[in-house]
Amino acid sequence: MGRYDRELSAGIEAVRAAARVCRAVAQRLVTADTHEKKDQSPVTVADFASQAVVCQRLERAFPGDPVVGEEDASELRGAASALRATVQRAVSAEVGGDPGAAPVLSWIDRGRAPADGHRYWTLDPIDGTKGFLRGEQYAVALALIEEGEVVVGLLGCPNLPDDAGGQGALFATVRGGGARRLALWDAADAEGRRIEVAHPRSPAEARFCESVESAHSDQEHSAKIAALLGIRSEPYRIDSQCKYAAVAEGDASIYLRLPTRQDYREKIWDHAAGKLVVEEAGGCVTDAGGAELAFRHGRTLAANQGVVATCGGAIHERVIAAIQQVRGG
Ligand code: AMP
Ligand code: MG
Repeated sequence: MGRYDRELSAGIEAVRAAARVCRAVAQRLVTADTHEKKDQSPVTVADFASQAVVCQRLERAFPGDPVVGEEDASELRGAASALRATVQRAVSAEVGGDPGAAPVLSWIDRGRAPADGHRYWTLDPIDGTKGFLRGEQYAVALALIEEGEVVVGLLGCPNLPDDAGGQGALFATVRGGGARRLALWDAADAEGRRIEVAHPRSPAEARFCESVESAHSDQEHSAKIAALLGIRSEPYRIDSQCKYAAVAEGDASIYLRLPTRQDYREKIWDHAAGKLVVEEAGGCVTDAGGAELAFRHGRTLAANQGVVATCGGAIHERVIAAIQQVRGG
C-alpha cells in the first residue's frame, strides 16, 4: 500500500464523476447562442455542478479535509434561482436521485476553505472555461497539498484524444510514483499506463504550447523566445492544464505562460495538479524566472510570476535564459 492510495482512488473517482457532469452539461446545453450569456451559461452550470460533485465525494472519503475551490455558492442562494435549479438537476443526474437544494449548496461551499492548513485539496472544477464553450480542451483539476508540497495530482480531460480513437483522458499521479494516463470514462481502469516526457534532440526541435487566450500569456514574447531557441514549428495552443498533460506525455516539450500583467498572480488550482503530472513524468516546472512554484502563500502563487514547464534537463535552463533575454530581468 502506498502512502496516498486512498487519496488517489477517491480523487480519481471524484474527477471521473465531475467529468461526466461536465460532459452531460456540454452535450445538453452548449449551443452557439449560449456563448455570450453570463447567467445560466452552460459553463456556469457545469462549474458549480462539477465542484458540488467533487466536494461531495471528498466529504465522504475524507470528511476532515478542507477543499480550496474556485467557486462558492453565494450566487445560487437567491430566493428564486433558476440557475440553482439547473445546477441541482445536473448534480442529481450524477449522484442518483435529487439530493435537494441545501446539500448541493453546502457541497459547493465545502470548497470555500482557506488555503492555509497543513493539508488541503485544491480544485478547479472547470479549468479552461473558454475551451469548454468552444467544444475544445478543458480539464477538471484536483490536487492534494501537504505542507506546501503537491502530493497527489489529477487532471480529467474529457476532450483529449484517448487511446482507442475516442475522447477522454485522466492523468493521475502521486509524488514519487510516476505519472499515469488512465481511461477517463472507464471506472475499471485503475492502472492505465506510465507516461513520460519526450526529449527533443535540440531546443530547435521542441514544440511549445501556450494558452489560446492571448490575455493569459504573452504570445508576442513567446514567439520571440521560440525564435531565439530556433524553434520553427507553430505554437500548440490549447486551453487549460491540458498543456501540462501535453508536456508530460511528450506531445510538446515546453509550456510557456508569460504574464501579460505585472499584478496578476496565478491561482493554485490552475497549476498544482499539472505541475505534479509533469514532474512525475520526468519534466521540470518553475516560474518564468526559474524559481520553484511555492504553494505556501494561500490561494495564489504570490511569490511567482508566470510558469514554465519543460521536459527537463538543459532545455529548461535554455528556455529560462531566453525568457530573460526577451523580457529582461
Ligand atoms: P488557460 O486555459 O491556460 O488560458 O488558463 C485558464 C486560466 O487562466 C483560468 O482558470 C484563469 O484562472 C486564468 N487566468 C485568468 N486571467 C489570467 C491572466 N490575466 N493571466 C494568466 N492567467 C489568467
Ligand atoms: Mg482555471
